[in-house]
Amino acid sequence: QPVCVIILGMAGSGKTTLVNRLTSKLYSSGPPPYVVNLDPACLEVPYPANVDIRDTVNYKEVMKQYGLGPNGAIVTCLNLFSTKFDQLLSLMKKNQGRHKYYLFDTPGQIEVFTWSASGNIITEALASTFPTVVVYVMDTVRSVNPVTFMSNMLYACSILYKSKLPFVVAMNKIDVVDHNFAVEWMRDFESFEEALDSETSYVSNLTRSMCLALEDFYKDLLVAGVSSTTGDGFDELLQKLVAAEKEFHDVYQIERKEEE
Ligand code: GDP
Ligand code: MG
Repeated sequence: QPVCVIILGMAGSGKTTLVNRLTSKLYSSGPPPYVVNLDPACLEVPYPANVDIRDTVNYKEVMKQYGLGPNGAIVTCLNLFSTKFDQLLSLMKKNQGRHKYYLFDTPGQIEVFTWSASGNIITEALASTFPTVVVYVMDTVRSVNPVTFMSNMLYACSILYKSKLPFVVAMNKIDVVDHNFAVEWMRDFESFEEALDSETSYVSNLTRSMCLALEDFYKDLLVAGVSSTTGDGFDELLQKLVAAEKEFHDVYQIERKEEE
């Protein structure tokens, strides 16, 4: 059975570039992935998309027709697309013998997908049909600041609790900054405190207490450092995806059934 992979992350974290790299990795190592672009506002898609939201809804037209700004228009496009999502699902079911992975690239601004009705509808539709996992793309370069790192992790944590899906954190852009510092911060609370010492504001006190609360979240988190531009770390990312798929079957599927 194929696995759905929803790629989430802050704007500019590298979701699209990661989907592109993952796609070419998968093409060269096994059955081709089935790739879906859910970002109506992107100018061009670097990977071969099997389904592109831009073929269904015209972002510029939606802006004009409904008198919306950029974000409102993106949400509206996603809403319009989600009303036809059953068509995509049946297409996916029909093709499931041919693919191992269904990849979903999402809009630049993360909240468009994670805090919208249509994002929920799409996620739920996928997870009730196929094993589904989330890849949370993190900009490692920006996360060298401990407070930024923490807020990024809190966001990741909130998505985990909201989506109730297995989760892989892809620490991206390791061609610029190695991700070891972040792994160390997650493993050892004191090393994170040390990094915070240079920040003596209200924010850092808050961060300190949040960090303790996050220890549980860090404990079993699947993490891979990658560079989407060089392809470094993608073998590890693929291994983590397999582990996440196993988690879906072992834990999440059962919990979801119990809730129904
Ligand atoms: P998205 O908004 O999350 O889809 O981000 P994009 O994939 O469009 O990437 C945002 C910017 O980050 C682009 O300029 C990319 O070239 C750059 N980028 C993405 N991945 C990497 C990476 O692994 N290393 C470096 N150095 N830059 C990257
Ligand atoms: Mg993108």
